[in-house]
Amino acid sequence: MGNSGSSARHDAMLAVIRWRPEHRADEFLETPMDQLFGCNVFNEDKMQQRLPKPVFERLLSTIHDGQTLDADIADSVAIAMKEWAVERGATHYTHWFQPLTGLTAEKHDSFFYPTDRGRAITQFSGASLIQGEPDASSFPSGGIRATFEARGYTAWDATSPAFIYENPNGTVLCIPTAFASWTGEALDKKTPLLRSMDALSSQAVRLLRLFGDTDCTRVNATVGAEQEYFLIDSHFYFARPDLVACGRTLIGSQPPKGQELEDHYFGAIPERVLACMLEVERELYKLGVPVRTRHNEVAPAQYEIAPYFENANLATDHSMLIMSTLQRVAQKYGMHCLLHEKPFAGVNGSGKHTNWSLATSTGHNLLEPGDTPHENMKFLLFLCAALAAVDRHADMLRASIASPGNDHRLGANEAPPAIISIFLGDQLTQALDTIVSGKAGSSAKASLQLGVNTLPPIPRHFGDRNRTSPIAFTGNKFEFRAVGSSASIAWPVTVLNTAIAESLSDIADQIEKTLGKAKVTEARLRTAVKKAIQALYKQHGRIVFNGDNYTANWLKEAEKRGLPNLCNSIDAMNAMLETHNSDMFKSQGVLTKRELDSRHHTRMERYITTLTIEAQMTANLARTVVLPAALRYQTEVAEALAIAQSAGHSTNETDSLLAEIIEMIADLRLATRHLSSQVAQRPNGLEQLGCHVRDQLIPAMKAVRSACDHLERSIADDLWALPTYREMLFVK
Ligand code: ADP
Ligand code: MG
Repeated sequence: MGNSGSSARHDAMLAVIRWRPEHRADEFLETPMDQLFGCNVFNEDKMQQRLPKPVFERLLSTIHDGQTLDADIADSVAIAMKEWAVERGATHYTHWFQPLTGLTAEKHDSFFYPTDRGRAITQFSGASLIQGEPDASSFPSGGIRATFEARGYTAWDATSPAFIYENPNGTVLCIPTAFASWTGEALDKKTPLLRSMDALSSQAVRLLRLFGDTDCTRVNATVGAEQEYFLIDSHFYFARPDLVACGRTLIGSQPPKGQELEDHYFGAIPERVLACMLEVERELYKLGVPVRTRHNEVAPAQYEIAPYFENANLATDHSMLIMSTLQRVAQKYGMHCLLHEKPFAGVNGSGKHTNWSLATSTGHNLLEPGDTPHENMKFLLFLCAALAAVDRHADMLRASIASPGNDHRLGANEAPPAIISIFLGDQLTQALDTIVSGKAGSSAKASLQLGVNTLPPIPRHFGDRNRTSPIAFTGNKFEFRAVGSSASIAWPVTVLNTAIAESLSDIADQIEKTLGKAKVTEARLRTAVKKAIQALYKQHGRIVFNGDNYTANWLKEAEKRGLPNLCNSIDAMNAMLETHNSDMFKSQGVLTKRELDSRHHTRMERYITTLTIEAQMTANLARTVVLPAALRYQTEVAEALAIAQSAGHSTNETDSLLAEIIEMIADLRLATRHLSSQVAQRPNGLEQLGCHVRDQLIPAMKAVRSACDHLERSIADDLWALPTYREMLFVK
């Protein structure tokens, strides 16, 4: 007979059993890594080869030192870029941008221009490189742009190199761009990110000058984002309307074997999966994305890919490319890549640990404890600046990672709770405690002398790690672990950058005041810095928590400390309306109040829309997939009952089975009716709608799911039309 569920199962199993590599990656195997890496990127090397020297040098000053882009060089760059792209088969170019949808957007234009006598030439001008005008009226703007003034402009971001996107039938030149309204207001994720990087750099450089550093011209936020994802066979994917429409399973009963045996984590990678990963990596190398690490993750069918860190802007663009490449290449291997934070209930979800630090243009990591007392003072000061920033804007950081998907993950004993705190490790915490108490340092192992009587030694090696903390200090960087797997890292990194820029600015003000006009000696500087560290840690030390963030005790303790616990997206997103947050964005020149409000609006709308789609899909599955299967099963059982009765057998057993099924069906219908009535109610106003979704829609969806899952566990397997967890997670 066969239904879509069992045929998907059959096809998926054949796909796994018969899988052989269709195309050997010859090019990959034959091309040495150093030639492959960046071959599709118009990187500095190629610019140097192809651009006149003065043009190249002016461009470099923009890329490295954040100097204003010189529009006069655009024509020259455009010609070189186009020639290079055409040599690599490009027929089209696109401004590649990151609207508030959270995805990337592109609109392709041909290089070809018709000429007289029916011919055409390729042409690409500086003007087309610098600015584009996509018909952008359908991108979210959160009220910034009315449709009658729907113009949006894309503007070349010279700090992220252009690259070539390959397709079997041709290639496209992609130019990373920012996207703004005709009034200059940001409509994307890149513009505020770049602004926040500038703010951070100028405040960090200002502080470094106080330490007598006259060489450093720029401080960049560095970021390495570890991407978690699931891979499942495409047959299963297409047989699950919820995966196709929502990226996660809205119903589905737990398999007898889940992740309890912990036999997947760091286990051997199945051959088809590894083949896919190798091709993903090959494609990413070509795009200059420095991916380094791959391994199995905790849940069955879950994996991770991690790049080497880069400056925050490049890391963001590359993180978007990692996600799209995973999705694209997986399909070539008959698999689908799921980037959702929680595709399967009951097994671990996926995050994107966003490692963050500060690098000077002179090659130093400012969060690396140094070899001299002078360096260590600097280290402690930047560390405390981060503590203060996270404490002041914990609510905004929480808001920056809020999404419907992440709501399933945060606080679920697999990801940090919704309370933002920082793990520092015992040794570093002790060191700071001692500075504040003013007592002499304890004898920490493998420590570094600060050379100041009252400053304790700083531990050099951080043995302890904490996997339950939302933001963990891991030796020379912070790891923002609460970021969701499907998210663009642009927004969380923008918030972190801005908060720390504000904090550095306050600290610089403070130290400048303490030092006054008199000559700055090393001793006076030390005293001023120590005073600043003491004040910062006293005020903001409450953000440090080294214990287990998953325990109920921490919830109580955090409340006592006054740390916000924003359990769901709606509560979290309200932080964007708070004055201390809008003031921060404004003072650092990152977002105006109007721009921030528009982001709040857009995010609320997306949250409500996403959940409304999920709710409708849940009701739809319940009615059109689960209910028919249940009714068929009911008929079969009733028929069996009639046969038994006509043969004169005692039928108590079958009788009660029938009664159970009838009851389960009644539960399902009741829950579904309730869900549909909740979907139909649309209270006025964004805030009210958000609360309705959170308080009514989500519980109603859960009730339907529970009725469906109950039936899935009870009815005949061959009548169940959807691929099950035990298949999707384990057939690989
Ligand atoms: P783990 O799984 O233990 O967290 P990984 O090796 O998977 O470690 O990931 C560590 C990530 O941190 C990598 O992406 C790496 O590039 C990044 N990273 C290391 N140093 C820095 C730094 N200074 N700034 C930003 N990211 C960094
Ligand atoms: Mg990690």
